[in-house]
Amino acid sequence: MELDDLYKDLILDHCKHPRNFRPLADSEVLVDEENPTCGDHIRLTARVEQGKIADVKFDGKGCAISTASASMMTERLIGMPEAEARRLISDFVGVIRGEKELDVDSLGDLAALEGVKQYPMRVKCATMSWHAAEKALDRIAGNP
Ligand code: ZN
Repeated sequence: MELDDLYKDLILDHCKHPRNFRPLADSEVLVDEENPTCGDHIRLTARVEQGKIADVKFDGKGCAISTASASMMTERLIGMPEAEARRLISDFVGVIRGEKELDVDSLGDLAALEGVKQYPMRVKCATMSWHAAEKALDRIAGNP
């Protein structure tokens, strides 16, 4: 099996069975993000305890890339120290925008989404949930 196929399977799996995806109560929603060019809509909430990300959840409706990216993100962020999570967010967004070199050691499975950088129209699909997570962390820290 080619690496590309493995990656495709991984993305499809997250798309069909998104992790940490469940309907959020309106009062829980910290960030609401839309990507009008594709029609993606994501709502996200997070919880930080003792400097670590204790929980991240999302709901909404999006294309395969946006759903898979959000799902993979929640798996990675939960349990991570906040400072490390912010670094990962910046690294991931940088790679997808083609501004940073891919570091497979730090991105791991997220490297599956690297191919998106060849499709400028889809970059926002892959990065919107990451921006949402960053905004959620800012809000939790008290910076709107
Ligand atoms: Zn999309």
